Amino acid sequence: MSFAINGQTQLAGVIGWPVEHSLSPAMHNAALDALGLNWRYVAMPVQPGEVVAAVRGLAALGFRGCNVTVPHKLEVIAALDNVAPEAEALGAVNTLVFRRDDGGRLRITGHNTDVGGFIGDLRANGFEPEGRRIVVVGAGGAARGVVYGLLGAGAARIVVLNRTVERARQLVADLTQSGKTAQGPQRIERTLTRKPADPAPPVEVAALTEVTLTEAAQTADLLVNTTTLGMWPRVEGCVWPEGTPLPPTLTVYDLVYNPLETHLLHLARQSGARAIDGLGMLARQGALALDLWMGQALDVEAVTALMRRAAIGQKAES
Ligand code: NAP
Repeated sequence: MSFAINGQTQLAGVIGWPVEHSLSPAMHNAALDALGLNWRYVAMPVQPGEVVAAVRGLAALGFRGCNVTVPHKLEVIAALDNVAPEAEALGAVNTLVFRRDDGGRLRITGHNTDVGGFIGDLRANGFEPEGRRIVVVGAGGAARGVVYGLLGAGAARIVVLNRTVERARQLVADLTQSGKTAQGPQRIERTLTRKPADPAPPVEVAALTEVTLTEAAQTADLLVNTTTLGMWPRVEGCVWPEGTPLPPTLTVYDLVYNPLETHLLHLARQSGARAIDGLGMLARQGALALDLWMGQALDVEAVTALMRRAAIGQKAES
């Protein structure tokens, strides 16, 4: 059921620059309609440099919260009164909750639902990360959430491969120094100071080459692509070398969701490997954001499924 906008309509939305191609309005409004809520979710273009003013304005206007997308995930931190542990550890926020405290003061809290979106989607697809060997390709913003989540979920070993190896080293150093993963930091520190007798290290770093990638994948349970390779419009891009089969025992997760079937996932399926697209993570991080705005009263599984269907519908239209 879709409500006409009236005096009781509650608002949420997404800020980014640009933001007009975001799938979030279609996902959230479909879920809000299905839940019978008199809420609307809108996309709001906000220029870099104006993020703090925009966020404070939304809070003052009575918005329930908003999502924050590229390039504002760092700039928005200056507007926060509180920050959730995972957002603090990553230094990146993708969801804001606006609430008044007992004294009536408006408080802005920053969260990062990408971590829960990724780990939750892995588990929903039947892959439990605990004790598993994982290769993460890429070391950008998305990779940080992925590595943080995998450490917290108890992965046995993580290999981070990136074209710019220094960026991968920095990622590990930052997560180590922040000391904020549920169980991760101790494990990372042990890696950096490990002795030969120590158990297998949880995080290793290397430059991304065909050799490092195919070798690491041979002994891995899961390969996660967090690079932009394969993303529209350069859909021919692929981290995996053409003509080399992927190990059929591997699960391959591609964060890219446009297109849904990337060339990497196509190669994985051809090789008999399991392939998971990035739309489940996108839908779940959206459902987790709505759950935060509604005071954690949501059936996250059902709303994730609704949002995923809405995103596919929106992609088909565009
Ligand atoms: P980012 O911070 O810009 O990082 C981009 C990454 O891609 C870097 O590791 C970069 O390597 C690598 N890369 C770019 N071009 C490459 C090339 N030609 N060869 C090898 N590596 C290359 O981007 P991000 O925010 O992490 O996002 C990455 C992807 O994840 C995007 O496609 C985004 O849509 C997707 N994503 C999906 C979800 C979801 O919910 N499914 C959530 C977040 C992000 P260098 O460091 O060497 O430049």
